[in-house]
Amino acid sequence: MASITRPHGFTAGIFGFLSSVIDLVYPTICVGCGKVISKSPIPVCVSCFAGLEEVEGGRTRSFLRSIAEMPAIDFACALWYYDEGSPVRMLHRSFKYDGFYSLGVRLGKLLGAHIERSLNGRQGPEVILPIPVHRVCLTERGYNQTEAMAAGVTEILNIPVETGALTRKRLSGSQTGLDRASRAMNLSGAFVLNSPDRIHGRRVLLLDDVITTGATIVEAVRTLGAAHPAACSIAALALVRPPGNLGGGRAVNARLHRRGSVTDNPRRTPDHRRRRLPPDHSSQ
Ligand SMILES: [Zn+2]
Repeated sequence: MASITRPHGFTAGIFGFLSSVIDLVYPTICVGCGKVISKSPIPVCVSCFAGLEEVEGGRTRSFLRSIAEMPAIDFACALWYYDEGSPVRMLHRSFKYDGFYSLGVRLGKLLGAHIERSLNGRQGPEVILPIPVHRVCLTERGYNQTEAMAAGVTEILNIPVETGALTRKRLSGSQTGLDRASRAMNLSGAFVLNSPDRIHGRRVLLLDDVITTGATIVEAVRTLGAAHPAACSIAALALVRPPGNLGGGRAVNARLHRRGSVTDNPRRTPDHRRRRLPPDHSSQ
């Protein structure tokens, strides 16, 4: 079995070293509000953390099951919604693109705890499979961001991480701006199953960073199906709010009000917002 993958290459090593040094030299700044915060596992202050909206139990699974041709899944959960303006977006960017591997591990621990809570005593997975990235992305970033998360999840769930059984053989290009059907077409045949014997008869947990249309995870589950796992489950750090679920919870609405992005005062116009007038008193 392949071991947990550490950041690849010299570049990733430098990134990891620098992020450790920066942690020591500079105080942590909240990615949500910019406030200086004391030691914290992730760079989000208590107030902004309280505003992060967790995905309701069962919401991720029902969303994935609503996708046409979705193969059978045993269990699915995502930790937070990936809303516009949410600190979750900054956190994701930091560990996916900016080299903060250790942040991915710490977020993985939070996700691991969320998975435990979501399982609620049910039989859990036996092995973690981080969604693989293409070798070109691996070279650019220095590591696979889902493997960074897996390094945190494995500490909480105490189950091994399997890398190499599934690889990404095709660079699918940016998925941004594509609808669900286009993404599915873009990803068709993107993965290859290298070692079916490592999957066969096991309860597998596929780990992704963000579920957008679900096309990536669907294609990965479909590819894994050829190996006949005993069960296939899915966990992600974040879920893009599916259409029809735009109303948001209290946390999202409260945050948007704080930022002046939404208001129930009809006299406030976009120009008011551009001039950064303070939000309504009622929104405080
Ligand atoms: Zn904050």
